[in-house]
Amino acid sequence: MYSIQVDPHTHTLFSGHAFSTIGENAACAAKMGLRAIGQADHYGPTFTHDLPGWGSMMNMKALPRVIDGVTILASVEIDIVDFQGHLAFWDQEMPFKRPGDTHPVSPNDPLLASRDYAIASVHRFPGMEENTLAKNTEMYCRVLENPAIHIIGHPGRAGLRFDLDTVCRCAKEHGKMLEINDHSFDSPADVTDECRRIACKCAQWGVQVAVSSDAHSAWFVGQVQRALAMLEEISFPPELIANRTLESFQAAVAACH
Ligand SMILES: [Zn+2]
Ligand SMILES: [Zn+2]
Repeated sequence: MYSIQVDPHTHTLFSGHAFSTIGENAACAAKMGLRAIGQADHYGPTFTHDLPGWGSMMNMKALPRVIDGVTILASVEIDIVDFQGHLAFWDQEMPFKRPGDTHPVSPNDPLLASRDYAIASVHRFPGMEENTLAKNTEMYCRVLENPAIHIIGHPGRAGLRFDLDTVCRCAKEHGKMLEINDHSFDSPADVTDECRRIACKCAQWGVQVAVSSDAHSAWFVGQVQRALAMLEEISFPPELIANRTLESFQAAVAACH
């Protein structure tokens, strides 16, 4: 039976449409026997007009590193906002300069620099309906080349089909992870089929996956049974599940470049 020790993708109230605090998420994670959770609140125009989560995410030092025995990892789910693979708010400038800043600094720079790891996902962006397989593939490859990003969030559910071999080759080259997101199994069969195809390609290419709940309330933290069942069905190599242990997840994050 496959299992995970880290749920790398959970949301708190700071996402704007989730229901639990980090304390409630940690308490549920402890009951599930998890060793760590990632606080991966939304950051991007789709869900968080302006930057409501930015201040809290930049203030992780106000939290204990371990709550109820569960390590809290600083993450973010940042929106991919165009086919060039730009990330949310990339073209905004911080309203003030810090010592040593020689060029305009986006709020993303200090945010991403302060994360234990970062997830980049497509939700919605202007012009998205003009997507093609080639544009989508190029977009994901640009994101995978970004050293600040470690995981592509729910690629099976984002609605932008891409060339699996090209994206897996790029992920492998940069040591990045693709996410198998349990929340995607709430979607119609074409989405769950795509998740399965992605997992099969990751197995072929030796790309690690991050299995996550994408919980928007504490009760779903660590709930990844459907994702794990699919991986078992296709005999996915368990050693490619990056978050099978806390140590394997940390090693996978450290190997990203
Ligand atoms: Zn998402
Ligand atoms: Zn999410």
